[in-house]
Amino acid sequence: MPTLLPHPGRSLLKFFALAAAYFGAARLGLLLAHSELAITLIWLPTGIAIAGLYRWGARYWPAIFLSAALLQEYSFDIRWPLAGFLVTGQTLGPLATAWLLRRAGFHLQYERRCDIALFCLYTALGMLIPSTLGTLSLLGAGLLAPAGLGAAWLTWWLGDWMGALVASPILISLTWASYARLRRRTGEVAIWLLLLCSAGAMIFLLPPTLGVAHQALVFVPLLLTVWAALRFGVTGASFGVLALALTAAWGTAAGLGPFILPRLYDGVFLLWAYLLTATVFNLMITGLEIGRAEAEHELLASRERLASANEELREAATHARELALEAGAANRAKGTFLANISHEIRTPLNGILGMSGLLLGTPLSADQRRHVELIHQCGESLLRLISDILVLSQSDLGKLPLAPAPFTLAETLEQALSLFALPAREGNLSLKWNVGPDVPPRLVGDAQRLRQVLLNLVHNAVKFTQEGGVCVTVSREEEAGPGVRLRFEVADTGTGIPPEWLPQLFEPFVQVDSSTSRRHGGSGLGLAISRQLAELMGGTIGVESQPGRGSTFWFTAVFEEE
Ligand code: ADP
Repeated sequence: MPTLLPHPGRSLLKFFALAAAYFGAARLGLLLAHSELAITLIWLPTGIAIAGLYRWGARYWPAIFLSAALLQEYSFDIRWPLAGFLVTGQTLGPLATAWLLRRAGFHLQYERRCDIALFCLYTALGMLIPSTLGTLSLLGAGLLAPAGLGAAWLTWWLGDWMGALVASPILISLTWASYARLRRRTGEVAIWLLLLCSAGAMIFLLPPTLGVAHQALVFVPLLLTVWAALRFGVTGASFGVLALALTAAWGTAAGLGPFILPRLYDGVFLLWAYLLTATVFNLMITGLEIGRAEAEHELLASRERLASANEELREAATHARELALEAGAANRAKGTFLANISHEIRTPLNGILGMSGLLLGTPLSADQRRHVELIHQCGESLLRLISDILVLSQSDLGKLPLAPAPFTLAETLEQALSLFALPAREGNLSLKWNVGPDVPPRLVGDAQRLRQVLLNLVHNAVKFTQEGGVCVTVSREEEAGPGVRLRFEVADTGTGIPPEWLPQLFEPFVQVDSSTSRRHGGSGLGLAISRQLAELMGGTIGVESQPGRGSTFWFTAVFEEE
């Protein structure tokens, strides 16, 4: 639970450190008072109080109160309880500033750019309290004439504000990390410090004899503070500004330097304007540097994110390659198994077909003949199925061979279609074929594979057509490469295929109307095999169909002209 009083132990140490620092800075501040004007040019204790209360917490306020009270006792001439008024103002001002900064989420290292504006604004606001209560107490004590109240208030406020602006940034921003940053560049810091001290001494601690040229020189130390802001961060910049401010105030208070003007107040206001510019200018440059560092940090972080995403991608690709290899191996194993098993089944099956064929040639009773015929038919459809599976498994393994040889296209078509002449006649279907005039009559290719595809497609066409007929058309396609690309179309006027079935029609074991297909001894492999064979012959396969009106299956294949 936050408390308004310090805890014993280490807190007590902090308490006394804060009180002593406040008191010491106040004594120093009094040294910086202008002898003729009787005003302190920069009142450093306010800066120390703000930093202490902001960093260690509001509960250290008694340290400020106590120091301010002691100071009042030894250095000023106001009686109590009026003096309490002044001391309260000096405690409340830093307390209010620290509270405002904490509330706004102000950051130690001025990490957000708005922190700089917040810092300037809240110190200016907070210092309204000690200046108001202080001048009022002087008025009450009769040490200030009412006519001079406005001027006294303004100079008090500006002196306090300058103290807060130049002294608190270094105390607020000092951390082990920022100290380490300075230590890493000891050599550079030493050169910089030497230049700053010599420039400060030469400009601010010489009698004002150079005239305007002397005033123009005040810009030189600003360059040195910019150096600090860029190279040493906010702590280095704050230290530079503090050193500059102390030298300038000390010189001015002693009647030296460029701010000694004929009208004393003009010089003092010029000094304050100079210090305000130096502080804000440096904090702004620090802000820019912070922005650059943030962008660099973000860039580094996104580079790391990118690198880790790349790494993940590489791992995923390796994993995918491994999976693909495994899948390939599994597929090859499946293909080999199917090829072997279908080969093994064919041997006893041929025995069954041969024996049942022989049995049919012997005298049998009508019942026995019917049974043997059934055995023979079942054997034949089993053999077809096994042959189809063998072709599919071979093509999966990439082992399906092509045996190109010269052939006459018309003959191949004739052979394929003649097998369906009888079923077509029985079903009252017309069966025609038609070859385009630009198709070469003699070709070189695997006529057996071509016949197999034609048989599959025409068989289906006849199977699924009740009325009308089937027409096979061969035409020549525009060649993209070498060879003769032919397009074969098998059009029927049959049942047609619903559109939702078309995409998967060339996959194995797809049957739109399984009862009809099975009745005709279909296995669902014919179209899958046809696709494999068409692709093997360098072509593709496809279908257009309208339910109830018929289908046109087509495929292309590449041959050589003899
Ligand atoms: P199946 O041996 O069962 O005929 P296919 O792979 O040859 O196997 O054909 C798959 C399915 O495609 C068939 O079962 C049928 O439903 C449909 N099909 C194929 N050709 C035609 C066609 N000409 N008309 C209507 N449906 C067809």
